[in-house]
Amino acid sequence: MVQSSLQQISELAPNLAKLDDRVRQLEATRDQPGSVDRTGFDVIELRDVGYSYDDRTPAISAIDLTIRRGEVLGIIGPSGSGKSTLLQVLLRLRLPTTGEVLLDGLDYTEISAAAWTRLVAVVPQEPQLIEASIADNIAFLRPDVSRVDAERAAEAAHIAGEIRELDDGFDTALGPRGSGLSGGQKQRVAFARALAGNPQLLILDEPTSALDAESERRVRETIAELKGRVTLVIVAHRSSTLEVCDRVVSMAAGRVQIPDGA
Ligand code: ADP
Ligand code: MG
Repeated sequence: MVQSSLQQISELAPNLAKLDDRVRQLEATRDQPGSVDRTGFDVIELRDVGYSYDDRTPAISAIDLTIRRGEVLGIIGPSGSGKSTLLQVLLRLRLPTTGEVLLDGLDYTEISAAAWTRLVAVVPQEPQLIEASIADNIAFLRPDVSRVDAERAAEAAHIAGEIRELDDGFDTALGPRGSGLSGGQKQRVAFARALAGNPQLLILDEPTSALDAESERRVRETIAELKGRVTLVIVAHRSSTLEVCDRVVSMAAGRVQIPDGA
């Protein structure tokens, strides 16, 4: 046994060295946010923003876009046109490889990580629920989100009633990846999670594309109720979801097409 373990270790050693290199590479490019505290904004400006994964053709390029406080901006475009990449850059999950993102004139990387995570929230395309109670899924490791906040967020996301009908209500334990809830319910729990921190900027990546009609209607109601209070950027396909937007821009091949007259 010792002999064969030694054999395995010597076979794996080169991979460990590679892994070590990769970790060092990634750490070198890690977002190193600044220390400025910001609790709100009037305008977010993207100036000539581009992002490339590796050294290939940029996934997005030359994006100039201004988003004003309280606006609901819709983004449409075919699959692969760069919508999710743009959202990830907006969220600061990926930093632009060209250009800059300014928050009231301040480069967004200057803002501290703590302030940034209070400012922005996302409802991802696939709700990322964990094996924990529904209340914990909504609070999601944020000690400042109380039980009352979690329930209020669930009300706002039009999921509270369905949660209370479960035997253990908000204490109901979900299985891996949130099993125990329907797809539409998971999406609304993810929405509640995003709302629980009272974000100023809420980003939604195709929040209704995979939903049944009833869940879609409820998500749409939530969006309509947030309008004017929270700045929303929504990637959407359904025309019913797009109707709530103040402005819709379309993307093609990594660029934003500005409509005539805008
Ligand atoms: P959309 O959301 O509009 O479908 P994406 O932003 O997901 O578009 O993708 C834009 C381009 O970037 C596509 O060519 C896609 O293959 C590429 N891409 C997306 N994510 C990654 C990734 N993690 N690594 C490498 N390439 C990616
Ligand atoms: Mg996408």
